[in-house]
Amino acid sequence: MRVVFIGPPGAGKGTQAARIVDRLQIPHISTGDMFRAAVKAGTPLGKEADGYMKSGKLVPDSLTIAMLRERIAEPDAKRGFLLDGFPRTVPQADALDAALRADDMKIDVVLLVEVPDELIVARIVGRRSDPDTGRIYHLTFDPPPPELAGRLVHRKDDTEEACRTRLGAYHSQTAPLVPYYESHGVLRRVDGVGEPADVTTRIMGALGL
Ligand code: ADP
Ligand code: ADP
Repeated sequence: MRVVFIGPPGAGKGTQAARIVDRLQIPHISTGDMFRAAVKAGTPLGKEADGYMKSGKLVPDSLTIAMLRERIAEPDAKRGFLLDGFPRTVPQADALDAALRADDMKIDVVLLVEVPDELIVARIVGRRSDPDTGRIYHLTFDPPPPELAGRLVHRKDDTEEACRTRLGAYHSQTAPLVPYYESHGVLRRVDGVGEPADVTTRIMGALGL
């Protein structure tokens, strides 16, 4: 199964993706995680992406598309994948379609995780992640165990200011993907508000699982 998650920053895409790939046994491909790994490793791609990410802007399509195409050509992606955070622009969606079509493949479902803007900043500024396990926590909504406090990471772009830029980028550049995928007949909407376990149940239902 080839699934795409779309939603504003902080909608819960990463949290839910981890649960879904566990059940479906497909790779979780997060372009945000890939860019952060490149920044950490100090690669040329990471150096180029860093400035955009820190300020909350999208990394240019040319870099993002090239990175994603390479990733979905890996052998583990042949049996399906869950894309989290890609595509985020119409040119990215067109490039994805073209790359898949060349191999006689297509996206099966695009899940739009809906969370109203007024809940987003609180979710983003309280986000922390465990670099050892990749587990995502929230200081209030999903508090980490106290013994992990010393190693948790607070992303540089999880400030209120960068979050507002990211929300703006979502509405202007990513939201056009909703009518795009609706017209392809693959869009499903899921309410992302409520307990994470309830959101997982809704997503599984929307995937027909
Ligand atoms: P995204 O990948 O869409 O940016 P995350 O999965 O990283 O979002 O979630 C953003 C923050 O919100 C994290 O701190 C996470 O713990 C928290 N979160 C995720 N799902 C929920 C939920 N259903 N209710 C409240 N907080 C949530
Ligand atoms: P979130 O879902 O919490 O907004 P991500 O981890 O998906 O964050 O992305 C973090 C940052 O990485 C984005 O703000 C952007 O700078 C960059 N990025 C990730 N995916 C893409 C993409 N598909 N196109 C352009 N930039 C991206």
